Amino acid sequence: MSRYILALDQGTTSSRAIIYNKNAQPIAAVQKEFKQIFPKPGWVEHDPVEIWESQLEVARAVIIKSNVRPENISGIGITNQRETTVVWNRNTGKPIYNAIVWQDRRTSEYCNQLKGKKLEKIFTSKTGLVLDAYFSGTKINWILTHVEGARKLAENGELAFGTIDSWLIWNLTNGKSHITDASNASRTLCFNLHTMEWDQELLDILEIPVSMLPEVKDSSGTVALATDLIYKRQIPIAGVAGDQQAALFGQMCTETGMAKCTYGTGCFLMMNIGSKPVLSKNKLLTTVGWRIKGETTYALEGSVFMGGATIQWLRDGLKFFENAAESEALAASVTSTDGVIMVPALTGLGAPHWDANARGTIIGITRGTTRAHITRAALESICYQVNDVLTTMAKDRGTQLIQLRVDGGATANSFMMQFQSSISSIEVHRPTNLETTALGAAYLAGLGVGLFKMNKLQENWKIDTSFKPKINKGEADANNSQWLKAVERSKNWAS
Ligand code: ADP
Repeated sequence: MSRYILALDQGTTSSRAIIYNKNAQPIAAVQKEFKQIFPKPGWVEHDPVEIWESQLEVARAVIIKSNVRPENISGIGITNQRETTVVWNRNTGKPIYNAIVWQDRRTSEYCNQLKGKKLEKIFTSKTGLVLDAYFSGTKINWILTHVEGARKLAENGELAFGTIDSWLIWNLTNGKSHITDASNASRTLCFNLHTMEWDQELLDILEIPVSMLPEVKDSSGTVALATDLIYKRQIPIAGVAGDQQAALFGQMCTETGMAKCTYGTGCFLMMNIGSKPVLSKNKLLTTVGWRIKGETTYALEGSVFMGGATIQWLRDGLKFFENAAESEALAASVTSTDGVIMVPALTGLGAPHWDANARGTIIGITRGTTRAHITRAALESICYQVNDVLTTMAKDRGTQLIQLRVDGGATANSFMMQFQSSISSIEVHRPTNLETTALGAAYLAGLGVGLFKMNKLQENWKIDTSFKPKINKGEADANNSQWLKAVERSKNWAS
């Protein structure tokens, strides 16, 4: 009998479902976009019911598409947009407010107030995160403060909080299981990395009753049974992880010191740092990678806001080309940027610069500058930003990284991957399977139900293209210091 794994990949703009066979090869995928809600500048919401319904719809559809019999699905793996916050009523199962999405900035002021009370250090030392609106904790507080009657219901134990994984599992189990995995818990500002438990002191500061929180489970192994919603079959939910952590696992970065970078809208760098939650001295995040059989693997993380989005802006804002792929030939049509440097700080700068008031700049323009030079500078800027995070990780770890595994839509651009290798003096490995997020969730679930074996999964990771540095370290250093000079000019621009 053939056996399969169903991966549910609940992302920021779409819900996807993919079926993998027993060799961990994808055999069918279905995707559905859902509505983005922008009630005010800086606010981003999703309708939790639409999220659930779209996820269920694609799960059912992919089973039909694949011709797999539901009884042959051995397990479900879930991966999800992280930090996005849902609060629902335990009695009715209905959300009391829209999901507040990770991108939502409405609690920035509240974060500043907490910082003003000198509370940032407590959060950072316990959670490995920075005190920022990005994470779930202050979003939960916002819902309890602003939705009428919410606080009272919460104090009576009638409300449940969950990140998207919890919300999906609650629905998949008909309200029987209110759980999350350790990687998702570590994104809430409420979870203590050292004790691996919800932290009462942080909950008191954020005024969140502990009764709202899900039970924290392993990332692999059966944690719940999905009820008969998917073709009347009970299927074990056996893998759960936040999207970046799932990608790290899907890239098989399972040894300490291995790292991956996902080049999508933004760029997300993550490095496996092993069994100790060492905190960054340089403003990177420490987070749970995964917890398997009670053993936690931690990760160091740094994000770049404008990755592929920089190319989107050239395409849609400046009308430089019609599709992003054209950027590669255009950049290659000139031999250098001719001294032009772009700093795509269009929404401020993330790790390691952390300047919300930085703004984009293109510097070094002369009369000879063309669209091709600017496009090349844009692609290079994505790599320079990733390199800044890599350099910071090296500083934190005390060792230079020698290899980087890459994935995400923008890795199709070989010019960019080559430049990354050269500028970072690092080998860049682009694997055959670039869908690493769903793959990671499938791996966790397949391992959890005993369908996959770790050594086989490691063999499953195959290089498609390898990029090696084409310039020497001295030249790379000179380029990087020129870039950092440009970064200084972009900083602290908007007041
Ligand atoms: P996300 O999952 O964040 O939506 P994807 O992994 O689908 O992102 O990647 C899409 C992003 O990659 C877009 O921002 C797009 O501009 C960029 N991109 C896609 N193809 C290329 C390419 N060939 N060169 C450069 N950027 C690209």
